[in-house]
Amino acid sequence: MIQPRLRKDPITQRWVVMSPDRADLPSPGLPPRPAGLPAEACPFCPGHETQTGPEIHAEREAGTPPNAAGWSVRVVADRYPIFRIEGGLEKSAEGMYDSMNAVGAHEILVETPDHQRHWADLEVAQLERILRVSQQRSRDLRNDARFRHVIWVKNYGLPGSVFHHPHSHVMASAFVPRAIEEELKGFRDYARWKERCVLCDIVKQEQRDGRRLLGREERVLAFTPFASCFPYEFWLVPVSHGHDFGATSPAVLRDLARLLQRSLRGVQRLLQDPPFTLALHSCPLGDFSPDEYHWHVEVVPQPPHLLGPERGTGILINPVPPESAAERYRDAMA
Ligand SMILES: [Zn+2]
Ligand SMILES: [Zn+2]
Ligand SMILES: [Zn+2]
Repeated sequence: MIQPRLRKDPITQRWVVMSPDRADLPSPGLPPRPAGLPAEACPFCPGHETQTGPEIHAEREAGTPPNAAGWSVRVVADRYPIFRIEGGLEKSAEGMYDSMNAVGAHEILVETPDHQRHWADLEVAQLERILRVSQQRSRDLRNDARFRHVIWVKNYGLPGSVFHHPHSHVMASAFVPRAIEEELKGFRDYARWKERCVLCDIVKQEQRDGRRLLGREERVLAFTPFASCFPYEFWLVPVSHGHDFGATSPAVLRDLARLLQRSLRGVQRLLQDPPFTLALHSCPLGDFSPDEYHWHVEVVPQPPHLLGPERGTGILINPVPPESAAERYRDAMA
């Protein structure tokens, strides 16, 4: 029996139990993938542009009008938004309990006209376009003084997803999400203590060490974090410090697109088309010191439902040590 070890995440200071003794691959029974809408009934397919919310932004062939075919990436308002764009925050208190309106933006980024396409099979140029549009949305939304944070999230193949057409969500909120708040605190504490950026230090150490590396392009590194919360979780991080994804140069976006494609192909081969979530974490909006955040992309294949001890206690148990995950990824990406 292998002795489980606790590993501490250098950013959030959260302890994760590495327990390779448990079943190696998670999720013994993935729920069946829902069928999803066929292309004929899909509002994101070309020719169905009027069935979505209004078009907010698109990369399209010169001369084609909005809300018609001719686009390569398209952003529309979500018809069933979590947040509403109109109105003030109307913060209120009932005794000690605070509340405010769910003001924010919720946009759908339609990533390709092709209904069937998987991200691992997209051309690098198309992935670059997607990243560019996501960047454009984050720059645009930050002009709204009500918003504190913009996040870009892709959920692929999760149970309950109706739309199979490749798409992701851009959400701007009037508060900083907890995961980002936790990271921010970690960045600040580390900077105060060592006068350096914790993620810059992680990037340097991961490059030197090599055991957790998936791969690298000149300007972006992919690795499984030392205290990975989830099996096969990996991050893509720009090698040079940058707090704001919105300000990232086209050269970094190109490297990110290349490495994303390679690593997602690895995910496909290694885990046989698993569901995954991908989230782009960037700094909050407003007053902010650029030293105190370093943007990155977090990918979690087969996001688990938190069951058993994890659910009640919040203690995360990872059965696949990041070193073995990285080794398997490298084989699958070779
Ligand atoms: Zn479609
Ligand atoms: Zn940094
Ligand atoms: Zn993060």
